[in-house]
Amino acid sequence: MKNIRIAIDGPSGAGKSTIARHIAGTLGILYLDTGAMYRAVALKVLRSGISLADAAAIARMMKDTRIDVEYRDDSQHILLDGEDVSGEIRSNEVSMGASAVSAHLAVRERLVSLQQDIARRSGVVMDGRDIGTKVLPNADVKIFLVASPEVRAQRRFLELQEKGLLDKTYEALLEEIRVRDRNDSSRTHSPLLQAEDAVLLDTTGFSLKEATDAVMALIEARKD
Ligand code: C5P
Repeated sequence: MKNIRIAIDGPSGAGKSTIARHIAGTLGILYLDTGAMYRAVALKVLRSGISLADAAAIARMMKDTRIDVEYRDDSQHILLDGEDVSGEIRSNEVSMGASAVSAHLAVRERLVSLQQDIARRSGVVMDGRDIGTKVLPNADVKIFLVASPEVRAQRRFLELQEKGLLDKTYEALLEEIRVRDRNDSSRTHSPLLQAEDAVLLDTTGFSLKEATDAVMALIEARKD
């Protein structure tokens, strides 16, 4: 199990990161949140005032951008040009920015290659949009996690409320989820797609614990 490679893909809010983190802890393997890497790139674009749609300027910017992933205190830290931006990348503005910059090929090529380097070093569970199709096409287990947009917006609403960060209505969160789904599914490069050999799991009626148990059962069943 220590060398197992697990790909979890799906739209935002399907529970991927919470489930993947739990599974990595249980199996004693690395967890890589690939969305955080796209978020770090978006943060740099937003800070530098480059348009999120300017593919050429973003490709130039990528040439002198460093993204590193470090593991400390049991969690993943993202370093952007040496600066720990793990907190700052969680804002709503960065979420929408990440959805835009991830459409650019120069960004994708660079981050996919970093992700593949990490997977060469150890067993890993990665979550994202293109892990099963592009980053780890030979993963041992591939899971495509979905839930209705309404349930995903509701989960996000409760999560923000719990953290005291709620600054939007449920309807606004639902609309953001719909926009990101549209961006992620319609882009030319690596759109959000279920890999042919991925197992589809719809967590709409599930609690987080039920969804995690279902994913764990799929891994247990496939590991041999
Ligand atoms: O997973 P998270 O919501 O943090 O990802 C932020 C954005 O990064 C997504 O909306 C998606 O556009 C992009 N992303 C991607 N490919 C991945 C992971 C994330 O395009 N593997």
